[in-house]
Amino acid sequence: PRLANQIAAGEVVERPSSVAKELLENCLDAGAQRIDIDVEQGGVKRLQIRDDGHGIPADQLPLALARHATSKIAALEDLEGVASLGFRGEALASISSVSRLTLTSRTADADQAWQVEVEGRDMEPRVQPAAHPIGTTVEVCDLFFNTPARRKFLRTEKTEFDHLQDVIKRMALARFDVAFHLRHNGKSVLALHPANDEVSQARRIAAVCGDAFLEQALPINIERNGLHLWGWVGLPTFSRSRADMQHFFVNGRIVSDRLVAHAVRQAYRDVMYGGRHPAFVLFLELDPSSVDVNVHPTKHEVRFRENRSVHDFLYSTLHRAIADVRP
Ligand code: ADP
Ligand code: MG
Repeated sequence: PRLANQIAAGEVVERPSSVAKELLENCLDAGAQRIDIDVEQGGVKRLQIRDDGHGIPADQLPLALARHATSKIAALEDLEGVASLGFRGEALASISSVSRLTLTSRTADADQAWQVEVEGRDMEPRVQPAAHPIGTTVEVCDLFFNTPARRKFLRTEKTEFDHLQDVIKRMALARFDVAFHLRHNGKSVLALHPANDEVSQARRIAAVCGDAFLEQALPINIERNGLHLWGWVGLPTFSRSRADMQHFFVNGRIVSDRLVAHAVRQAYRDVMYGGRHPAFVLFLELDPSSVDVNVHPTKHEVRFRENRSVHDFLYSTLHRAIADVRP
């Protein structure tokens, strides 16, 4: 199983940011309201994520690290219209096969916390008592310590941390209701409080995308035929030389999808400027059963049942919004 896990790790675990993405999704699936991320050396030396979610019962801790063990799907049919973010049950198994991982958790009805520790090798993890409030902490140390070939592909501390911060920021845009706190090498880098009204949502947009983006951005909020698009679109004048500020979410899931990208690009291109990249934070909400999110484990693709009408809705809504404010 270790080899199988390490092979699977190749698909899911590329660098600290991909570890963070999986762990953060688990926190959200567990109903976390606050997530604390503590990182050393860009996440390579240490990446610790703590949540205040529902926790894992002691007897299920070893299972949580086993491949294809997921508590999230009862039957295969549930894959139709997946509601939770994780559903493959291989993230923790994969990560623990290429790092030194400690999982500590406490449920509301347990009178104490429990912990399992694994070090990238085949062994039945031992469950030990620990101190921890209700919720879960996963600590991942020395990523790729036992797979030097993989470790070689890691970049500088700054680059790895930038990627990690991107993941956290995208997640923070997907979940305004959750608090995110990020520390790097002992210093607080990001402190995002829950944002449940328009004012604090705008504050979070500014914290994540910068004041300059928010100042010029156009808020949009359109609903038609079961499709709801809302968020902020940057004006043509705010376009950037890199496509680094393009955030698109489908039902709360970060998506970078060709159909979506095409519709958005087309809408901007028909209004403006060649060669530059628009900035936007957009949320598309639709009936979960009309979109398939299980296309690829990491590529963030989706498949819409009504391809054409989603494309047209995105294109026409955005085109109208941007064209309206053309100088
Ligand atoms: P998946 O998320 O696809 O189920 P993972 O390997 O990411 O697979 O996690 C395995 C299992 O461990 C989850 O199904 C869940 O039961 C448990 N788990 C992992 N992280 C957490 C967490 N932060 N809070 C509660 N349960 C968790
Ligand atoms: Mg998961």
